[in-house]
Amino acid sequence: MAAADKVGGLDMAAPLPAAFAKLGLATYADLLLHLPLRYEDETRITPIANVLHGQLAQVQGVVTHCEVQYKPRKQLVVRIADTDGELSLRFLHFYGSQTRQLAVGNVIRAVGEARGGFFGLEIVHARYRVVTADTALPESLTPVYPAAAGVSQTVLRKYIALVLAQADLTDTLPEAVRKQHKLMRFDESVLTLHRPAPDLSSGVLTDRVHPAWQRIKFDELLAQQLSLRLARQMRRALGAPVIDASTDLVDRLLAGLPFDLTQAQQRVWEEIRGDMAMPYPMQRLLQGDVGSGKTVVAALAAAQAIGGGYQAAFMAPTEILAEQHYYKLRSWFEPLGVEVVWLSGSLSKKAKQSAMDKLSNGAARLVAGTHALFQEQVSFAGLGLAVIDEQHRFGVAQRLALRQKGVQPHQLMMSATPIPRTLSMSYYADLDVSVIDELPPGRSPIVTKLLTDNRREELMRLVRDKCRAGAQAYWVCPLIEESEKLQLQTALDTFTALSAALPDVRVGMVHGRMNSADKAAVMAKFSAGEVDLLVATTVIEVGVDVPNASLMVIEHAERMGLAQLHQLRGRVGRGAAKSACILLYQQPLSALARARLKIIFESTDGFYIASEDLNLRGPGEFLGARQSGAPMLRFADLAVDTELLDAAQQAADAMLQKYPHAVELHLSRWLGKRQEFVKA
Ligand code: ADP
Ligand code: MG
Repeated sequence: MAAADKVGGLDMAAPLPAAFAKLGLATYADLLLHLPLRYEDETRITPIANVLHGQLAQVQGVVTHCEVQYKPRKQLVVRIADTDGELSLRFLHFYGSQTRQLAVGNVIRAVGEARGGFFGLEIVHARYRVVTADTALPESLTPVYPAAAGVSQTVLRKYIALVLAQADLTDTLPEAVRKQHKLMRFDESVLTLHRPAPDLSSGVLTDRVHPAWQRIKFDELLAQQLSLRLARQMRRALGAPVIDASTDLVDRLLAGLPFDLTQAQQRVWEEIRGDMAMPYPMQRLLQGDVGSGKTVVAALAAAQAIGGGYQAAFMAPTEILAEQHYYKLRSWFEPLGVEVVWLSGSLSKKAKQSAMDKLSNGAARLVAGTHALFQEQVSFAGLGLAVIDEQHRFGVAQRLALRQKGVQPHQLMMSATPIPRTLSMSYYADLDVSVIDELPPGRSPIVTKLLTDNRREELMRLVRDKCRAGAQAYWVCPLIEESEKLQLQTALDTFTALSAALPDVRVGMVHGRMNSADKAAVMAKFSAGEVDLLVATTVIEVGVDVPNASLMVIEHAERMGLAQLHQLRGRVGRGAAKSACILLYQQPLSALARARLKIIFESTDGFYIASEDLNLRGPGEFLGARQSGAPMLRFADLAVDTELLDAAQQAADAMLQKYPHAVELHLSRWLGKRQEFVKA
C-alpha cells in the first residue's frame, strides 16, 4: 500500500511507544484526535535575497562553507547560497555528525527566524534537512503538535501520517444528525486539521472557528453528553428505597424551626421529596448561594429518610464543617428522639468503633462526618440518604465509592459554588439540579470595602470598637503560595499581634493544624460569643455558620480566588446585624488580582461572581475536583461554544433514542479506554 510506504514502515499492529502515554495517547485512534497547536508554512521557499530580518522563512541553498569555530565559543557556522543570495546558519550546540550533513556541496533546506548579524543574515539553530535540488515541497502546512520529552514532532508526524492513512475514519455521526447540525464530515475535518492546504491561513485554524474545528468540538461535547447520560441511565438502573410516605418526623422538624422555609427552600424540598419516592437513587445537586439555607433542606430530606425507616448520612469536606453539621443536626433531631453520631478520621479508635457499631446495628439513625465516612469500613443497617455538602470539594471517585456501598442510597449533593448554566449543562449533565435562588429574609446586605495594607492600624481600631460594641469578627489570614506551614505562621503572628494590640478584645484562633478537639472548643466559644475576634486560616472558608459575626477582615485578598473570597465573605451577613467585609490588599496589584477585587467589590451575587470567575479562569480550573473523573474538554470552550453545546445535547438525545450503534462508535473513538472509568 502506497500510504504504508509514505509512513516509513511503521505498523499499526505494533504497540505505540511507551513515551506516548505522557501525552495521554494510549491507542492509535487517540492520535487522530491529537490535533496541532499551530502550523508552519513549509510549502514555499523564500529566495535568500528576499528574506527579511525577523522573518520566519524557509530557504534552500548549497553549502559553500562549513566550519567549527572556537571563538568566542565553540560553534558550527555554515554558509549556504542560492542563485541570488547567501546566508549563515549558526549552531551553538551541535553533534559531530552535523558537520558531515552540512558538508560543502550538499543542498540544505532550512527553516528558522532570520536575523541581520554582523556578517549579514543568519539563522541560529535552524531546523534543516539535506535535500536534492528536486526534493518536493510538502503540499500542506506543517502541523506543530503538543509534544513531550521522547516524543518529538518528527515522531508524532510520522505516526499521525500512518494513522491518517490507515485508521478508521468512518463518521460516527448518522448522516441525518450531521446534516441537521450542518457539520463537516469527520474524515474531512481531521484531514484538514492535520494537514491543511497552504491557502488556508493558519490563523483560521488555530483560532478554532474553522468548520473543521467546529466539527471536532461538537464531537467532543457530544461524547461528554453521551457518557454522562449513559452514566446517569446506569445509575438509574440501580434500585433505591422508595421513601414516599409523608412522615410525622418531617412535620415535627419543621414545627421546631425558629423560622419558616423560604419559597425557594419549599420548592427544592418538594423536588427532593419527589426524588426520594422513586425506586432508583436520587442524583440531585442542590445549589444555593452562601447562606441561602441548604442545610435545613437537607435535614428535611434526612427526616424523611429516617421517618421512612432508613438512616441518613451527612458528609462534609472539612472537620470544622462536619462538626458544625453534627451540632446543628443534634440540636434539631435530638429533641425529636433521633440519635445523631459523629464520625471523623481523628476520633479515637474506641469512639470510632462505637459510632460504627451504632450505625451498623441501627441504633443511630443519623451520622455527620468527614470523608472518614467514605474511607473506613462503615456499614449501615439501612442507609436511605447520603448528603454530600460542598460537593465540589470531593472528587468524583469519592462520590462513586459511596455509591458502591450496598443498596444505593438517595444522594443529595450540595454546593455553594454556583455553576454557570453552560458549565452545569455540560459537566453536570448526569445530575438533576435544584437551585435555591432566594436568601432568607431579614438579612442586611454585606458592605464590602477595599483597603490597602498600610491602613491596618486604622482597621484595628475599627475592629476594637465593633467588638466592644458586642459584634463578633473574623480575621482571615492569607494563603501563601499554597504552603500550609507559612499560612500557619502568619496566622500565629497575626494572632499575637492582634492580642497585644487589642487587650480588651477576646481573641481566639483556629487553623488547620489544630487537633479537632481544640478546633471544636474554639469554634464553640466563638459560637457562644465568648470569643470576639477569631483569627483563622482559610479552614473556615466553607460552611461555618455563626450568625452573630458581622465583620470580616481578609488579609492579602489579592492572593485569593473569587470563589474563595465569596465563600469567606459569606460567613458574615447571616444575622440581622449590618455586616461588612474588609479586603486588605497589598500593592502593586496584578491585572488579574485587580479584576478579581473589582468583581468581588461590586457584587455579592454568587452566580454573577461565578460566571465572571469562569471567564477569568476557564472551566478546567474552575471546576477543580470534579475534573478528576469527568471527561474533560480539550477542544471545546464553554465560554464561546454555547451553541455547539446546545446542538450536542440535542444530538445526544436523538442518538440515544435512534442510533445506539452510533453512540457506541462515537464513545469508543472519543473516550477509548477512559470509557470504562466514566461508566464505573
Ligand atoms: P448554606 O446554604 O450556606 O449552607 P446554611 O444552611 O448554613 O446556609 O444557612 C444559613 C443560616 O440561615 C443558618 O443560620 C440557618 O439556620 C438560617 N436559615 C436557613 N433557612 C432560613 C429561613 N428560611 N429563614 C431564616 N433563616 C434561615
Ligand atoms: Mg452550608
